[in-house]
Formats: sequence, structure tokens, C-alpha cells
Amino acid sequence: MNAASRVNQIDETTPVPCTDDVGGLACALANASPTEIIAEAQRAVGPGKLCVVSSFGTESAVLLAYMAEVDPSIPVIFLDTGWLFEETLAYRDTITAQLKLTDVRSIQPDPMRLAALDAERDLWFSSPDTCCLIRKVEPLARSLGGFEGWLNGRKRYQGGLRASIPIVERDGSRLKFNPLANLDRADVEEAHKRFALPDHPLIASGFSSVGCMPCTSRAAKGDGERAGRWQGQAKTECGIHTLLSTL
Ligand code: SF4
Repeated sequence: MNAASRVNQIDETTPVPCTDDVGGLACALANASPTEIIAEAQRAVGPGKLCVVSSFGTESAVLLAYMAEVDPSIPVIFLDTGWLFEETLAYRDTITAQLKLTDVRSIQPDPMRLAALDAERDLWFSSPDTCCLIRKVEPLARSLGGFEGWLNGRKRYQGGLRASIPIVERDGSRLKFNPLANLDRADVEEAHKRFALPDHPLIASGFSSVGCMPCTSRAAKGDGERAGRWQGQAKTECGIHTLLSTL
């Protein structure tokens, strides 16, 4: 066997090392199912110390359905930014009722911060990062007080900064679990059907990813998963996955 073929053999048979800064937990869960990851997350952080953060967007229901299989009383943090579509608020209520979620918490921004920085409600245009900071990141930081870990629904196939997320990572003093990281789009669609989940109402209107009204557009067919968010800007994330631990 020559050197080139040895290299090829190693490339094909050596598992890609997983990223793990949580004492082996991320690698131990590297191939676990979403429900196994959620159950282990509860065990790892302790009773009452785990929550899920959900936008009740177009793909949110799948994570919530897996979570409800494990424990429908896990608190759900929903960031009601003041700029959400009515359809998203209605979808929150529909999914909450269908999955029998017992602790959905709708969190609003601090009115003092809004009055000081966004009295004209145009901050999304002049400084979207500051707008996301006061409408999403700061309220989430406050609402995570008392929790030791949180679940979220990011998938690697969504690309960008999400393409290499581990199953578990550190987020400041907390653990952040990504139970759907391994799933591909077909897995998510299959789970959506199997749980008999309704679609977000705006999917029928051509939206693939739904956030705040001013920063959400219809994406062209074939564009990336999150192409309709902050269209035309370099911004791809609101900051809850990139800035939270810095507050
Ligand atoms: S997504 Fe847009 S409107 Fe919503 S908080 Fe961020 S900048 Fe503001």
C-alpha cells in the first residue's frame, strides 16, 4: 500500500473528531437521538434547571414536540420582541395547546430600554444589532436566570455559523444543547409529519424562515434556509447564540 492510499484509507475510516468543551458530554451524545439528548440535558443540569428557547417560527414545532415527549413541563422561553407577526403569536398558541406545553413564558423587552434607544421604533433600520440586543439578547439573558442549561433548535444544515455546532456547548456559565444539530432537512420534515404538526401560517405565503416583521422577507426558491432574514445585510444571527454569554 503506498502513502497516498494509506492517507485515503485513514480519511475514509477515521471518525471526524467531535468538538467537546463540556467534559466529554458532547462526544458521548454525538449520535444520540433528539429525545435522548433532551433527557440527558435534564439529567445533566438537574430538575427545574433546563428550559427551551423557541421563536415559534417555521421549524420550531419539531423541537417542541421532541421536548414534549420527554417532559411537556420544561419551561419554554418565547421572546416577544414587539415586532412579531400576528401569525407567529397565533402559532405559539396553537402549538402550545396541541403539545400540551404547560409553561410557555412570553418575554418582552425592557420598556425603559425601548424608550431610551428605540422610541421611534426604527432601530431595526438604523442599528439592527442594537435592536436585537435590547429586544432579544438582553431579555433572554434576564429570563435565563436560575437555569443551568437551555435547548434550542439549530441544525447544521442551516449553514453559516450553524454548520459546525456540537450537540452540547458552553454558553457562559450554562450549557447549551442543540438536540437537532444532526438532523437534515428530510429528518425535520419527516418528524413534522410524524408528530402531525401544523405548518406556521406564513409558510403558505412563501416565507421559509420567520422572525420579526421588518427583518423577514420571502426567500427565493432554492435560496438558503435563512435567506429571508435580514435580506441584503451581512447580519445572519440576532445575537442570542453569539452575544449572550458576553453580557
Ligand atoms: S430581528 Fe429586526 S426587528 Fe427583530 S429585534 Fe432584530 S433588528 Fe429588531
